Amino acid sequence: MQFTHEHREIQKTLKRYIDEHINPHVDEWEVAEMMPAHDIFKGLGDLGLLGLTKPEAYGGAGLDYSYGMAMAETLGHIHCGGVPMAIGVQTDMATPALARFGSEELKRDFLAPAIAGDTVGCIGVSEPGAGSDVSAIKSVARKDGDDYVISGQKMWITNSLQADWMCMLVNTSDGPAHKNKSLVMVPMRENGKLVKGIEVAQKIRKIGMHSSDTGLIYFDEVRVPQRYLIGQEGAGFIYQMQQFQEERLWCAASTLQSLSNCIEWTVEWAQERKLFGASLADQQWVQFKLAELKTEVESLRALTYLAVERYVAGEDVTEWATMAKLKAGRLNRVVPDTCLQFWGGMGFTWENKVSRMYRDGRLASIGGGADEVMLGILSKIMGIAKRPVK
Ligand SMILES: Cc1cc2nc3c(=O)[nH]c(=O)nc-3n(C[C@H](O)[C@H](O)[C@H](O)COP(=O)(O)OP(=O)(O)OC[C@H]3O[C@@H](n4cnc5c(N)ncnc54)[C@H](O)[C@@H]3O)c2cc1C
Repeated sequence: MQFTHEHREIQKTLKRYIDEHINPHVDEWEVAEMMPAHDIFKGLGDLGLLGLTKPEAYGGAGLDYSYGMAMAETLGHIHCGGVPMAIGVQTDMATPALARFGSEELKRDFLAPAIAGDTVGCIGVSEPGAGSDVSAIKSVARKDGDDYVISGQKMWITNSLQADWMCMLVNTSDGPAHKNKSLVMVPMRENGKLVKGIEVAQKIRKIGMHSSDTGLIYFDEVRVPQRYLIGQEGAGFIYQMQQFQEERLWCAASTLQSLSNCIEWTVEWAQERKLFGASLADQQWVQFKLAELKTEVESLRALTYLAVERYVAGEDVTEWATMAKLKAGRLNRVVPDTCLQFWGGMGFTWENKVSRMYRDGRLASIGGGADEVMLGILSKIMGIAKRPVK
C-alpha cells in the first residue's frame, strides 16, 4: 500500500491538531479521567477528519479506507491511548453500519452531525453478562405502536458519559441468537440531559485509558421510534460483525505509531543512561531486544497494510483483520513491557510515557474482541474448529 500526497496531507493536518490542541492537555485529562469529547470532536470535524471514509452527501470526504487507516496511524502520536480510542469509536466503531445500512433520515440526523463533530456517539454491544459472546446479550427492544421500548444494560461503553447517541445492539425478537438482533440508533441526551429512562449507573475506574470515559448504562423502558432501526430488523448481529472489521483494522493501525514511539523513546533513553562505565544502549542484549521489537512492529505494519489494501479492493478481510488485531494485542503487551524494563525505576513511575503505554496498551488484548476470540475466529477459518450450529 502506497501513501499518496493526499494521505500525507491528511496526516500532517491531524498531526498539527494533535500537537496544538491535544498533547498539551493530555496529562490534565488523564488526571480528570475524562477528555472534553465535544470540543475535540468539533475541532476534528471542522478539519474534515471525522468523515474521511463516509459519503460526501453527509459531509464526509468519500475516500477509501486507506485514508481512515492513515488517520488511525497518525492518532498514535497522541501521548495516551484513551483519546485515540474515543475518536476511533466515533469514526470506525459506532458509525460504519449507520453509514452503510442507515436510512436517509438516520444518516441526515445522526451521521451528518457526527461527521461535523456536533455530536458524540458511542457503540453499545457489551453487557455485564455478555462481552466475548455477543450472541448472549440480553437488552430487549419490544414494539409498542410506532416505537421500540428498550430495556437492558450496556457495560464498558466508551464515550458514554458524554455521548449524545448510542448505536445499540438489542434483541428485537425471541428467534435464534444470530437472527434476533438489531442495531438501533438511540438518542441519549437532549440539551445535555439524559433522556427519560437512561441512567449512567457507574463511571468505571480503570487501570489505563484514563482520558476516555467508560460507563455502565441502564435502559428502563426507553422509547425510540422504530424508524431508528439500522437496515433490516434481525440483521444486527451480521451488521455488528461487519462493523467489527473496521474496528479491528482501526485497532491495528492506531497502534503502529505509538508502538514505534515507545521503541524510539527507549532507544534515546538507553543511549543517555549510563551504567557500568558505558551507556545502557551499549549492551548487546538491549540492542537486540529493541531491534527485535522494531521488526515485530514493522511486521504488524505490513500485515495491517495488506489487510487494508484487500479491504479497499472489496475483499472479505475477516481473516486478515483478525490476525492484525491479534498481533496488535500481543505487541501492545510485549513492546511496552520490554521497553519499561529498560527504563528501570523510571519505568515504574506513574508519569513515565512508557508506563502509560504499558497500562493503556493492555486493553488491546481484551477490547474489541479478546485475543482468544481472534484465535477462535482464525481456527474456524482454518477449518480446525467447527462453526457453532445455533
Ligand atoms: C476500557 C474498555 C472500553 C470498552 N469499550 C467498549 C465500547 O465502547 N462498546 C462496547 O460494546 N464494548 C466495549 N468494551 C467491552 C469489550 O469489548 C469487552 O470487554 C470484551 O469484548 C471482552 O468481554 P468481557 O469483558 O465481557 O470478557 P469475557 O467475555 O467475560 O471474557 C473474559 C476472558 O475470557 C477469555 N475468553 C473469551 N472467549 C474465549 C474463548 N472462546 N476461549 C478461551 N478464552 C476466551 C478472554 O481472555 C477474555 O478476556 C470495552 C472494554 C473496556 C475494558
